[in-house]
Amino acid sequence: MHFCVVNDTEILCQEPCRVCGELKGIRLAEVEYWDLRRSALVRCPACGHMQLDPMLTEEETAKGCLAYYLEESQRVSPREQERNRIRNFRRGVMFGFTLKRRGIVPARVLELGPGSGYFAAGLQFVFPDARVTVMDVNADVLAFNAGHHGYETIRQIPDKVEEDLIGLFDLVIARDILEHVSDIAAAISNIGRYLVTGGLFHFITPNGREDAWKHILAARLGRQPSELLINHVNYFDGAGLKKLLEEKGFTVLSYYTYTFKFFLRGNGWRKNPKLMSPHSTQRSAGQLIRDHEETSPAFGASKEEILKKWYIRRGAKKITYLYSIYQHCPILRADPGMNIGHEIYGLFRKEI
Ligand SMILES: [Zn+2]
Repeated sequence: MHFCVVNDTEILCQEPCRVCGELKGIRLAEVEYWDLRRSALVRCPACGHMQLDPMLTEEETAKGCLAYYLEESQRVSPREQERNRIRNFRRGVMFGFTLKRRGIVPARVLELGPGSGYFAAGLQFVFPDARVTVMDVNADVLAFNAGHHGYETIRQIPDKVEEDLIGLFDLVIARDILEHVSDIAAAISNIGRYLVTGGLFHFITPNGREDAWKHILAARLGRQPSELLINHVNYFDGAGLKKLLEEKGFTVLSYYTYTFKFFLRGNGWRKNPKLMSPHSTQRSAGQLIRDHEETSPAFGASKEEILKKWYIRRGAKKITYLYSIYQHCPILRADPGMNIGHEIYGLFRKEI
């Protein structure tokens, strides 16, 4: 049986911190990504960023992500998928009105990792003339976004630069993407390059301390590697992420954390075994992919069917907006530098 050594002391990492380049790290936990990779979870003593050490390779990420995508398409019922789509649409509407209130009308929009594409659809509901491009590595995701929404698509990862996109966009969106990116500093640089001067960058990403807590507890209380099926490779420190963005030429328009129920339950601070991540079973990504080889995921209901709701009215968009606020607007907000809350919301402007 394998026991991992977790002693909270500084070690020399296999790879430098992807935010600040520091070589030392504080070892917090040990995780296993499917049957593909065992890595330590380390915290940078200089900038507070937490990352996997060693980082997942591009091939490991692609394989694990495909396995997770297939597993999730099976696990989440069509009804629940539909609900998630309409929720994302409402969040897109809400975000669109946030921009409108600031007098911003985005003409060209790039979304990284669009999922079902419904957040951008909500944004397009507010700005019908906005032209949307989506970037992903998963061909199914791109095919869905092209067929269902008519978006332009590009197959690429955020940390590799796509020369053709440089200087094209006045808005880049990355919702729940930054935590998945191997080279976060490169991804932020690329986003800056895709934007025009004065362009906006919107993201949400988990609060790293809360997200990492299950693995830290598993190491402290369980003393075995914990399971990592979805490739969260970055666990952000709220102040450190802001500093990175500022170093890359962005300024803050809006930056806060929200949803505090998980924090109140103890995530991030309480040593409760119930909050531990499950132990790794080294689940086979290859086997899962082979099992699903014959089945392509169902795309579900049409866009018209999904958006057939009493409050979605092209002639009365304020009603759609008010209903979306009622459903989704977080009332309590905190400074991400406090590292409490479930998710970090960011809206930044590219200055140079
Ligand atoms: Zn660092």
